[in-house]
Amino acid sequence: MVICMFMRMNSENSDIFYRNPNAVAKIAGNKDYPDMYGEVKFFRVPLGTIVVTELFGLPDNHDMCAGNVYGFHIHEHGDCTGNMEDAFANAGMHFDMEHCPHPGHTGDMPPLFAFHGYTWNAFYTERFTPDMVIGRSVIVHSQSDDFMTQPSGNSGMKIGCGIIEIPAWNSGRPIAPPMR
Ligand SMILES: [Zn+2]
Repeated sequence: MVICMFMRMNSENSDIFYRNPNAVAKIAGNKDYPDMYGEVKFFRVPLGTIVVTELFGLPDNHDMCAGNVYGFHIHEHGDCTGNMEDAFANAGMHFDMEHCPHPGHTGDMPPLFAFHGYTWNAFYTERFTPDMVIGRSVIVHSQSDDFMTQPSGNSGMKIGCGIIEIPAWNSGRPIAPPMR
């Protein structure tokens, strides 16, 4: 006998909890953050996209007042290479289809709030579909996004990067946050 263990929530967006993502970026840190890793998953829903992020190894300065908030954007190029000053310089600028100022870029996303170097985050957007961002990159920045300064919100260095790809596998892992 099969017993259904899950409660259906009363939202058409909640079906992502039963699905594989339409696109995934595996994030890695730059040389100063070699322990950073995790995934950003993109799920197509009727009017837009749900983005689910889980990252480990973010900066943790152990200051309760510091915020530990990190700018988070989709950049135009799927290239996580760079130079001595900017390890992910070749990711380019924020993905921007409509030629709007920051934070109106197509690829601007809510910043990550980290707790002891860990973050789990999910949000809904109608700015892009998963298909529109495949082949681009997700960048994690060293500072919070001020949502004002041009062209990128004064969010500091690019400390993490991942190329957005069509997933080749079913991770089989739950996308809900872990019990801690
Ligand atoms: Zn932007």
